[in-house]
Amino acid sequence: MAKKVLIIGGVAGGASCAARLRRLDETCEITILERGPYVSFANCGLPYYVGNVITEQGKLVLANAGLFRDRFRIDVHVHHEAVNVDAARRTVAVRHTQTGNESLMSYDALVLSPGAAPIRPPLPGIESPGIFQVRTIPDADCIRRWISERHAQSAVVVGGGFIGVEMAENLLHRGLKVTLVEMLPQIMPNLDPEMAWPLQKRLEEHGCHFALGDAVAGFEQSSAGALDVLTKNGTRHRGDLVILGLGVRPETALAREAGLKIGTTGGIEVDEHMRTSDPHIWAVGDAVQVRNIVTGQPQLLALAGPANRQGRVAADNIAGRQSVFRGVQGTSIIGVFGLAAAGTGCGESALRRAGITDYEKVYLHPMNHVGYYPGAKQMHLKILFRPADGRLLGAQAVGEEDIARRIDVISAFLQKDGTVHDLAEAELCYAPQFGAAKDPVNFAGMVASNAREKNMPVVNWDAVPENAYLLDVRDEDEFAESHVPGSVNIPLPALRRDPSALPQDRPILAYCRVGQRGYYAVRFLRQHGYDARNVPGGILTWENAQAARAKKS
Ligand code: FAD
Repeated sequence: MAKKVLIIGGVAGGASCAARLRRLDETCEITILERGPYVSFANCGLPYYVGNVITEQGKLVLANAGLFRDRFRIDVHVHHEAVNVDAARRTVAVRHTQTGNESLMSYDALVLSPGAAPIRPPLPGIESPGIFQVRTIPDADCIRRWISERHAQSAVVVGGGFIGVEMAENLLHRGLKVTLVEMLPQIMPNLDPEMAWPLQKRLEEHGCHFALGDAVAGFEQSSAGALDVLTKNGTRHRGDLVILGLGVRPETALAREAGLKIGTTGGIEVDEHMRTSDPHIWAVGDAVQVRNIVTGQPQLLALAGPANRQGRVAADNIAGRQSVFRGVQGTSIIGVFGLAAAGTGCGESALRRAGITDYEKVYLHPMNHVGYYPGAKQMHLKILFRPADGRLLGAQAVGEEDIARRIDVISAFLQKDGTVHDLAEAELCYAPQFGAAKDPVNFAGMVASNAREKNMPVVNWDAVPENAYLLDVRDEDEFAESHVPGSVNIPLPALRRDPSALPQDRPILAYCRVGQRGYYAVRFLRQHGYDARNVPGGILTWENAQAARAKKS
């Protein structure tokens, strides 16, 4: 008898599992159950479909039941919801979502890939018409219809994570006035505040209004047919529609009823082969608990890449191959109006939450390619590493060009336990229009290696010692334009001629615009017996941090 493999959920994790399994095993029967009308659709494209950047709904559907049948001999049942799993009998109760007809399907191997559901807190008025979540194509169609039929002029987006920010950008793109309400004092909490605020600034430049540090308390319909979002601080934000982007929670109802182990984070517990506590059941995607490779701790992570890779791992194991899922590092990117922000591994906030305080950080602000080639754009790059051995813990970058490339390279090293020294040594492609002979990734590794090896001890702006002597080594005109309060200006050439005005008994913190001249000053001064240290990223890092703090307050 052919092995029967049943897959619940036909999008990222489920569809990739099914297709991989067929490539490995021509003999098994593969069936996908999907409660919605589509399989293998691009949920990541939904905000852009709402924003009319993607204009045809069909472009979001990457494959359909016919394609799965003809190309892979996989049976896809859309509009079929799995309502119960009997793990002892190895059967799944299925309900047709349109007819209500129920049936029972048996399996030898079951894969759960039901995803995660948008969080909809039970707040007063949350069921009012005009309050939308963004998860499926029908959700996006409803939003598009609401906007066009009601000639919507304004929207309130609740939540400043990936979906909230992408929706804000797309609604602005459609010409709506947008207010974004976020409980935290910053948007994109996966990024550290100083790396997230440029995104906020870019959205503000395009008209987005922000209400940060204020949680939503309820919703009211106004007499004019609009909706009011009420906040805990007592403010009322009015919009013709409301988008909820409050995060997601793993869909675990089936797993719980089947008696599968649920992890401490609320996701389905799986081993490195994506097998659940039942040997015949695998689980993948947003619904599972994964291990963070930096902290070693369990977490949830709703990203398409891991879901796809986990689907593949589950398929391999069902087909008898012992492949392993390595864990996650949360590599992600978001773009708004031409500005991208990306990260991999842990930011400072995530490290501290995990109880990891033994880390060092450096900032730099290199160009995406050599400055002499037209069109060079500056990026902000932050690297976190373990001082003891230089192991990479995380990286974040924000800028207009080539952000994904730099974070992807660092992500690959991080996944393989790489160090900042590996970044310094990385051999990367270069021609003037693409990068620099010393690529920003190399450069980041060199700065961090220098800091680690104490060629250039560093002190960041958030840890300036009280007795520090702040030395600005930029030119006088740069100093006159702006400088860190309390600093003394001795331009680098003058410093080289005569450093004798500097104190011998205090730490000297040298800074410049981005950190390079500060580094030269530190090397010079240390060889003359001064306790000199560099402030990585220079005054640009200070300005970013100041701006992020100002946004907070
Ligand atoms: P899903 O892809 O959500 O698929 C789960 C499917 O299971 C659903 O279609 C659901 O209908 C079905 N299902 C659930 N329960 C049952 C049941 N009982 N019976 C039958 N079917 C069931 N990730 C990124 O990495 N980058 C992005 O840019 C990005 N953008 C996103 C934008 C939006 C608007 C959304 C919603 C998500 C985005 N994501 C992004 C996240 C990414 O889409 C998910 O991490 C990924 O799709 C998870 O895959 P999955 O298979 O676990 O779940």
